[in-house]
Amino acid sequence: MTNYLQNYLGGAWQARAEPVNKLLDPITGAHIASTGGKAENLQAGFDFARTQGSAALQAMSYGERAAMLDQVLKVLQANRDAYYDISLANSGTTKADSGVDIEGALFTLGYYAKLGAGLGDARLLLDGSPAIYSKDKLFQSQHILTPVRGVALFINAFNFPSWGLWEKAAPALLSGVPVIIKPATVTAWLTQRMVADVIAAGILPPGALSIVCGSSAGLLDQLRPFDVLSFTGSADTAVAIRSHDAVARHSVRVNVEADSLNCSILGPDALPGTPSFDAYVSELVREMSTKSGQRCTAIRRALVPAGIFSAVAEAASAKLAQIKVGNPRNEEVRMGSLVSREQYDNVQAGIRKLAGEAQTIHGGSSQPLVDADPAIAACVSPTLFGIRDADQATLVHDHEVFGPVSTLLGYRDTEHALALAQRGLGSLVASAFSEDSAWLARTAQALAASHGRVHTVTPEVAKTQTGHGNVMPGSIHGGPGRAGGGEELGGLRGLAFYHRRSAIQGSAQTLENLSATAKAWIV
Ligand code: NAP
Repeated sequence: MTNYLQNYLGGAWQARAEPVNKLLDPITGAHIASTGGKAENLQAGFDFARTQGSAALQAMSYGERAAMLDQVLKVLQANRDAYYDISLANSGTTKADSGVDIEGALFTLGYYAKLGAGLGDARLLLDGSPAIYSKDKLFQSQHILTPVRGVALFINAFNFPSWGLWEKAAPALLSGVPVIIKPATVTAWLTQRMVADVIAAGILPPGALSIVCGSSAGLLDQLRPFDVLSFTGSADTAVAIRSHDAVARHSVRVNVEADSLNCSILGPDALPGTPSFDAYVSELVREMSTKSGQRCTAIRRALVPAGIFSAVAEAASAKLAQIKVGNPRNEEVRMGSLVSREQYDNVQAGIRKLAGEAQTIHGGSSQPLVDADPAIAACVSPTLFGIRDADQATLVHDHEVFGPVSTLLGYRDTEHALALAQRGLGSLVASAFSEDSAWLARTAQALAASHGRVHTVTPEVAKTQTGHGNVMPGSIHGGPGRAGGGEELGGLRGLAFYHRRSAIQGSAQTLENLSATAKAWIV
């Protein structure tokens, strides 16, 4: 019998129901797990989290909740091997790519456990200093942050079943807000197993962490005033969520991380043979192949000086040709599969679409797969497109192909490169590679208005830089416009979504009393 992914709601595991969704191994097509359909007793489950979970969490100080996160981290570390096995079976990822998801989650949890420990026994956060409103200075106003008194519902995408859970749950639980996670069905096994391990360890108070696998039906109907909703997924689903009646009616705070056509710019000074040129090409290839390009932060548009377009195309192609694609159980394989055959079809359709306006520099399906049947496995070889006259292109600035696909675009000068970057209409990240730190600073400032993160690389940091696509918990993750307009992480900034900011007005003494259990919210 395959694994059945039970829901955990209202402090109890729900009985196995009729299996409705099948989870498959994307390499072999084997049926590995199932979920049921619509979860039972949703209303009671949400109420339980809102009352019991919230009360228990908010009875604790930030420091106590941080210690709890540290214990959660230890449980996950103890079960690490099982997570790698599940990731291989359900996401078709190599060990390194599973690590991006699993180790990324553990690192983020550890980061928030440490950050929270620094808040010690505080029970509320002070935002800024008091404003003085009377001549005798006795009447004042102080902004404070208190944890929201609702649940945090997370609806996640298929590409990060581990990190996607914990990068949201760590700041939420540290804030004192109970979590209900709905993972994307196709890769729900890893999320469900992690939740099951943490529940079994008995670390979290009842109602602090719940999971709904399978159908999203009825979930949004449960949202009430004070709840928050964090969504990661496609722009189309984001629109449906934002316009849902309960979200609109109850002013539910919503965070969206959606599509993103991230770019990376090679500086005008970076001629072939320079360290910046080499670092840029390596980064582009790494971004295309990591998790088979299924990262929302991956480089989709590579902007290079028009005069060296061919040199970049040649250097990147040579590296891409080295990547063996196929079954990650074979140690030679560097890139595994997409998460499903459905995604395979989506990516192939996207490749055909882009091929209508771009020249194929590297790719096609000519490369044989290693130990995988091309008729079954969801494996796609990396495809690098090129468009010398970037002004003529439209689709490449508009259509995200969520796989190992990127397009090289030639630019005339910095102004042109910035205008092309802007055509993404708001992205999670842009990177720039150059030896000229003054040019990088000017470029970063220009890119900042339309990007959540700008990652600049000079040769001196080429070895220590954290990577264009890697989301570090100390830096914010999110972007304006097409990217969803959301913001997560960024150290203590990530707690703001789970808190309500209020202005407390009163006498200096009253405000001083309030501060006794508070810690300054220093970001
Ligand atoms: P999706 O189809 O929008 O699904 C995302 C989640 O929403 C899944 O859990 C899905 O559940 C659920 N869902 C679908 N319809 C829903 C509805 N009407 N109401 C409530 N929930 C609903 O996206 P995806 O295909 O999984 O993810 C790929 C996309 O996510 C890519 O386009 C990528 O750009 C984006 N993404 C963005 C980020 C970021 O941080 N910005 C990160 C990763 C991915 P089911 O699985 O059960 O359908």
